[in-house]
Amino acid sequence: MYSFNQLKTALDVVQDELIQHHFYDYKLSKISVNWIPYSAAYGFQSYFSTGEISIPAISKSKFKELFTGQYVSLKDILRHEYAHAFAFTHRRLMKSKKFRLAFGALHDDIKAHWTFDPIFFVSEYAAQNAMEDFAETFMYYLEYSGKLPKKFAHPAIRKKWYFIKFLSDSLRENKL
Ligand SMILES: [Zn+2]
Repeated sequence: MYSFNQLKTALDVVQDELIQHHFYDYKLSKISVNWIPYSAAYGFQSYFSTGEISIPAISKSKFKELFTGQYVSLKDILRHEYAHAFAFTHRRLMKSKKFRLAFGALHDDIKAHWTFDPIFFVSEYAAQNAMEDFAETFMYYLEYSGKLPKKFAHPAIRKKWYFIKFLSDSLRENKL
C-alpha cells in the first residue's frame, strides 16, 4: 500500500533522474501522475489515450508480492511508467528504424512477443513485447544511472541500452 506522501517522495527522485538524463523535457513534464485507490497492476500509463500515469494506493500486483517474494519498488514502477510516457510524447522516435534495430520490432507492435532469455532481456516482463522491453530497459537505465551493469553485458541488451543512451545524448544536444 502506498500513501500519497510515499508517491510524492519517489516521484521527486525519479523526476530528478529524468532531468539528469535529459528526458524530462516540456512534453514529458506535462504528463500528469495520478494517485488512484486501486488497480490490478502496479501502475499504468494510458498510452492509447491521455498519456497520464496512474499509480494505485493498493494493487493486486503488490499484494501478490506477499506470496511470491518478489519486490518491485515504487521508484521502479515510476521509471517504467515514465518510459511509456516518454514513448507517448516522442512517438516519432519510437517509429524509427533505430528503434526497430535495437529492439527487434516496432514499439507499437504489441503482438510481437518472445520467450524470456536473460541474454536478450533485462527482465521476464521485458519479453512481452517491444513496448514493455523498452520500458524495462529504460527503468534499469535510470536505476543504474546509464552505466550498463555486468549482469546485462550481453550484445542484445547492450544494443537496447545504447538506443536509450542515444536518446539521452541527443536530447542533451537538442538534436531530437
Ligand atoms: Zn508497462
